[in-house]
Amino acid sequence: MRHATATSHSRALVQEGAGQLAAAGREQARHEVEWLLSRLLGLRPLELYLMDDPVPEPVVERFFSQIRARASGVPLQYLLGEADFCGRSFIVRPGVFIPRPETEGVVQAAIDSLRPLAQGCRSPLRLLELGVGSGCISATLAYALPTCVVVGIEVLWEPLRTAQENLQRHGLSGRVSLVQGRWTDAVRGRFHGIVSNPPYVPTTDVDRLPLDVRQEPRVSLDGGGNGMRDLLSIVHCAADRLEPAGVLVLECGESQVPHLMREAWQAAWVEHVRGLRDLAGRPRGILAVAKTSWQQKSY
Ligand code: GLN
Repeated sequence: MRHATATSHSRALVQEGAGQLAAAGREQARHEVEWLLSRLLGLRPLELYLMDDPVPEPVVERFFSQIRARASGVPLQYLLGEADFCGRSFIVRPGVFIPRPETEGVVQAAIDSLRPLAQGCRSPLRLLELGVGSGCISATLAYALPTCVVVGIEVLWEPLRTAQENLQRHGLSGRVSLVQGRWTDAVRGRFHGIVSNPPYVPTTDVDRLPLDVRQEPRVSLDGGGNGMRDLLSIVHCAADRLEPAGVLVLECGESQVPHLMREAWQAAWVEHVRGLRDLAGRPRGILAVAKTSWQQKSY
């Protein structure tokens, strides 16, 4: 409920909104409020403190309705309508998995290992992303590797629509094709690189995630009993979808890295595997390189 304010000046609104969010237990209350209000006003957060005109009443109402939504656990990025990933902004909305900073390090590792392949390859490098969500990983790969083409697979329609908008926004629709389907069932042929941040939270842990994370699509989080269902299935499918010497990059939870490394080492197609860390230095995924030849099925 909005308390009476003496004025609707932005400084007073920040103060009041931050008080309400702090009371609801949000640790970054002031920052979140600054982002919400500055976005509603089309300003940068610092400019809120320089603005002398009162904030128009419809904006004030919208602001307090966002504060109420945030206090009740709606993710900040859904209210802002966008999220940053690798220095670029991507549209997100309810029903779409929100890009995470921990994924940035994994994607950077993918780019570093794919770049030499791109340089040594006369035709465009073919990349596959499994579970595109907002499209932020496919777009970041396409930006960083200007000669690549990407196929992005996604099972849910809302993320597909959002990813399409994001690719248009970034001028990448011509190089990233989106396909509705489940993992590699939706495509034929082989790729030089496969990248994925699949669901990997163990089913019983999903309901214990913070309230705002639980507002995101459950299929993007729930990785089955021990969380490894999709990670392992992708390691196995990669045998039929990777080119010789191709690269598979998977994000997973910290405690899942050893299990996933073991499984990958045992896969017939794998030449080499290493663990990946996120930008905070925590174990966060694996990178597996395919042999230059192995028993291949043809499609
Ligand atoms: N890292 C995510 C989290 O914070 C999980 C992402 C996933 O399952 N791909 O819950």
